[in-house]
Amino acid sequence: MKKNKDNKSETRRNFLKNSALLGAGALASTAVLSSCSTDVESTGEKVKLLTATGELVEVDPSQIKKVRKEKLSELSERGREGLVGHHWTMVIDLSKCKNARKCMSACQGAHELLPHQHHINVLQMQDTPSTAPYYMPKPCFHCDNPPCTKVCPVNATFKRKDGIVLIDNERCIGCRFCIAACPYSARMFQWFEPDYTEEERNRIYDVELNVPQKKGTITKCLFSADRLRKGKLPYCVSACPNGVYWFGDKMEDSVTNGTSKETRKFSELIKENAGYTYFEDLGTKPQVYYLPPKQRTFDYEPVDKVMKEDHEGEESTHSNAKH
Ligand code: SF4
Repeated sequence: MKKNKDNKSETRRNFLKNSALLGAGALASTAVLSSCSTDVESTGEKVKLLTATGELVEVDPSQIKKVRKEKLSELSERGREGLVGHHWTMVIDLSKCKNARKCMSACQGAHELLPHQHHINVLQMQDTPSTAPYYMPKPCFHCDNPPCTKVCPVNATFKRKDGIVLIDNERCIGCRFCIAACPYSARMFQWFEPDYTEEERNRIYDVELNVPQKKGTITKCLFSADRLRKGKLPYCVSACPNGVYWFGDKMEDSVTNGTSKETRKFSELIKENAGYTYFEDLGTKPQVYYLPPKQRTFDYEPVDKVMKEDHEGEESTHSNAKH
């Protein structure tokens, strides 16, 4: 009788060991199946775990043991904590954007994105056929009630105490639930292997910069968390030549313009200019505010035309360089 029981345990142990051990780590990073749990009494209950080959298996909780939380690297630890005592916010003045796209290129360079990848996009907008078109830069809104972080099964994306929503690509499993959950299309899947040397690829990952980029994970705007740590304005804010961006701290009710360096009360700037957030009715509480595109004093050029000219400029630079 005892022998039968032992055989049963052995069979179950082998099955669990072979089919589920790795997958348990992927689904619930704090729990793995115990390889020596035959000493533990069975509870008679069942829990579901995903195996490494994508099968859903039911196991007795006695077969699961808590594992020591992997020690977070120093960069991840401080990246998760954030700059406590701040609540970062951005104000984008739509009346000033001329589609210079300097914000896009500064961001792209800092985060080592490929030429077609952007954390911030300048969109071409027109509210009605009878109103003037305008440009709208769109980063991640670092929502105070972000649906994206709530669906992540491995706690790879999270909201910090200073309001910034980040992604830890050491943890990301590329399930893309967060992309589906974001109503603003602010996230992007990294489909491509970045063009890194071996040395570049092996750099220590910085969660506040999301570099090195990693194929099969998610990438998005980080409010330049690495620059804020150094007391600097975000890459996009500093690069804009037209005074479009204000950035600052809601806790201090103050924002600074990246071009003129003028500092103003955040609440007054919003009130005086009828500032608003995008799709307020969704309840996501975005932390990026827009000032309406009123009194524009420059000509509007369709985005396609500007992009074509940029492209032609790049080509001529390239061909000059070859000769
Ligand atoms: Fe998340 Fe999208 Fe809000 Fe950014 S804009 S915090 S990705 S829901």
